[in-house]
Amino acid sequence: MSKRTRITITAAMALALCASLVAALTLAQAPGASAAVSPARAASSASAAAARSVAPRPPIVQKYIAFGASRKAQMADYSQRHYHQHTYLLTDPKAIVLHHTDGADWQSAWNTFNANTAYVFNGKSEKPGVSAQFIVDKDGTIYQLMPLDYRARHCIGMNWKSFGIEFVQESAGHSGRWMDQQILNRPKQIDAGLRLVRYLQARFGIRTADVVGHATANSSRYFKDYTGIRNAAGDWFAPEVAAFRSRL
Ligand SMILES: [Zn+2]
Repeated sequence: MSKRTRITITAAMALALCASLVAALTLAQAPGASAAVSPARAASSASAAAARSVAPRPPIVQKYIAFGASRKAQMADYSQRHYHQHTYLLTDPKAIVLHHTDGADWQSAWNTFNANTAYVFNGKSEKPGVSAQFIVDKDGTIYQLMPLDYRARHCIGMNWKSFGIEFVQESAGHSGRWMDQQILNRPKQIDAGLRLVRYLQARFGIRTADVVGHATANSSRYFKDYTGIRNAAGDWFAPEVAAFRSRL
């Protein structure tokens, strides 16, 4: 098998993985300053409020996938193998990974993520199944699939530190780059995605340089995987990520 063939197959596998990813967040409202809080707390709240005024929370529809005790245990075990951290919790998110669903509607992606089907990569079958914190539909609807402090399995090397955002887009026989260009040129969808990313950046202190694509994630400063695997994804290469960042 030629190297080129292997790369093509690996990319196809990664795309299939991506198609089975989605995510969700629990967006607790930060408390406002009041007479009962300390000056320091009040100052912190005022600062957070200022950040939110710059990047307000967009409308978000909560459609949680199943993520019960067994899936939490699977995510903790996955995190132990890949990150040497035995936890399913996402405690300090500092990056965002952009994806596309490789399907024409949000429900099919949600169904895949909800199913918790073991995913095979490099011949190794692992649980939990893939998921992501958010799906952004073509009409601009933002779906949250999981609490924001849960880790989703959406991107090799990044699940310990990042949110995953899936944009609905089918391939229609075209390349991954073409698919992302459709998203960038679909005003309702891209505007919703930008609003969501701006909000997450403000709330969690995420730098624009740390908004990456699935296809660029291997070079993220937060990338790590102790089993040695790397992404070979076909969604959100550098030119489209640059176009996205330029609009933040
Ligand atoms: Zn992806």
